[in-house]
Amino acid sequence: MKQARYGSPAGPAVDPTEFLARAGVHYKRRGIYPYCAACGEVVDLYGVFNANPGTTARFDHKDRPDNANPLDECVLSKRNSRLDFLIPSGFDDDRGERIRQQFRDPEFLALAYNFCLSLCRKGNLSAAQFRDLCKRADKKRIWAYADIRVWSIPYILLVLGDFTATNSNGRQYDFRFVFRKPRGSDLSALWLRPSSCHIEKVFDGGKPLKTDDNPYPVSETDFQMKAGDASWINVHLLRQLDWAA
Ligand SMILES: [Zn+2]
Repeated sequence: MKQARYGSPAGPAVDPTEFLARAGVHYKRRGIYPYCAACGEVVDLYGVFNANPGTTARFDHKDRPDNANPLDECVLSKRNSRLDFLIPSGFDDDRGERIRQQFRDPEFLALAYNFCLSLCRKGNLSAAQFRDLCKRADKKRIWAYADIRVWSIPYILLVLGDFTATNSNGRQYDFRFVFRKPRGSDLSALWLRPSSCHIEKVFDGGKPLKTDDNPYPVSETDFQMKAGDASWINVHLLRQLDWAA
């Protein structure tokens, strides 16, 4: 990354040269670190003491354990191209807290799960899997993405997961979801220009699944339609869906 936050995740944005100018070369001894604006973790300064003109100074995320899920990478680490669609234009934490509460409202939570279940198909999305997707959204602070709409979050949850289904011959296959949006547009196209976006169900290798409704349109109305009648979701299941309870 070209920029990090100075001294805390909410500190001012600095480039590597500015960071060193302010914190000094003994920044570690002084306890002053650069932080990632997206995940809030301490990042490493790289290439700043290197005389090699081919090396550009930057901030790097720390290595993750080998067994870590690649979908848990920070969206700014650039280590998982599947997460490139999630690069934020900015965060609004106060609004994010309200959006998260709206999402956790039992009525909406039931709709969100029913929507995701309807796209994954029955049997392919347990309450525990749904909870894990919400926890991943927490880590990535999806709720706080500037200007995000609550109805668009269930679509994003689907893209943050890997799923497994069984075909009519009893054979298992992996699938996932990808966004189709106008070239060069960022995530906000999802709620600003939903009619130009789709969400597509693909096999692990990237080939689309051939069903009559795939790819699926993206909009608040389509979300409501796919979510349908969630009244079968009882209090017991709702408790299982709420990852933050
Ligand atoms: Zn990060």
